[in-house]
Amino acid sequence: MHRITIDGGMCERCKDKPGYIVDHIEELTPENINDLDITLSHENLQYLCLQCHNKKTFGKKENEEYFFRSDGQIYPLPPVNYL
Ligand SMILES: [Zn+2]
Repeated sequence: MHRITIDGGMCERCKDKPGYIVDHIEELTPENINDLDITLSHENLQYLCLQCHNKKTFGKKENEEYFFRSDGQIYPLPPVNYL
């Protein structure tokens, strides 16, 4: 495994995959979107890989790598398409 940088290269949650997206730990809402302590605070930001971000955003269960769709087929985690 290669480290990209001394710090900040790897996912902060699993520390096993390269980071992919800066995520707000506290989800942004209409109520806090203008609160700079929330939106810009480094303490509210974490660097996640795509898998961890998907788990946080789409599913709450760890190790949930697949999901069922209405046609009964199993699909991988959905892509993040709103970046
Ligand atoms: Zn991760």
